[in-house]
Amino acid sequence: MRLLLVEDHERFAEFVKNGLEREGFTVDAVTTAANADAAFAAVSYDTVILDLGLPDADGLTLLKAWRDQGNSTPVLILTARDGVDDRVKGLNSGGDDYLLKPFEMQELIARIRALLRRPGGTLGTVIEVGNIAFDTSAREVRIQNKAITISRREMGVLEHLMRRAGRVVPKDVIEDKIYGFDEEVSSNSVEVHVSRLRKRLTASHADCAVHTIRGVGYLLAVDEENNGLV
Ligand code: CA
Repeated sequence: MRLLLVEDHERFAEFVKNGLEREGFTVDAVTTAANADAAFAAVSYDTVILDLGLPDADGLTLLKAWRDQGNSTPVLILTARDGVDDRVKGLNSGGDDYLLKPFEMQELIARIRALLRRPGGTLGTVIEVGNIAFDTSAREVRIQNKAITISRREMGVLEHLMRRAGRVVPKDVIEDKIYGFDEEVSSNSVEVHVSRLRKRLTASHADCAVHTIRGVGYLLAVDEENNGLV
């Protein structure tokens, strides 16, 4: 899951970013409305965490512009302004939830997960493909009902392949979802994660396999030999 954090207080942003990354999210942090708008246009985020008081514009103006463009990405508003007016304005401008500062990290994480699980979205809590079950809330992967050990990046790759099981997922889409702007990405890193993931799936007797579609990307499909079709 890739999140955009828009917060101009740099130390606070760093604290929130670290907390979210520990929970397995990929986070891009920006400090101005202009950078937020540019990032939002470039990446399809799963959720945006938006501070209202930004140096170059009001967060609500930004949010309203995104909603006017027809974008429905969940937005969680962070605000220090303790007033009913601001909350109502925030929700009227297209915010999905809000959190008053200061807040506990656990509270923020719970709110984000709730947004990601909302009915109407395509995001369920547990995704299942073949004998693999991916709990997107607990960040746990089970194969044949046994939890497996898996790195954060491999988990990111698996999640996106599972969400689009049976369809080809372009390599750059996977790369986009598992790396933030500030992370170095070597040209073969997705291949490396896919290769490790394959080994893990085989070792745990998964009945699905990751297929390489040369020059395009990857596809996760249930193995026909294992499911009785052949
Ligand atoms: Ca601020």
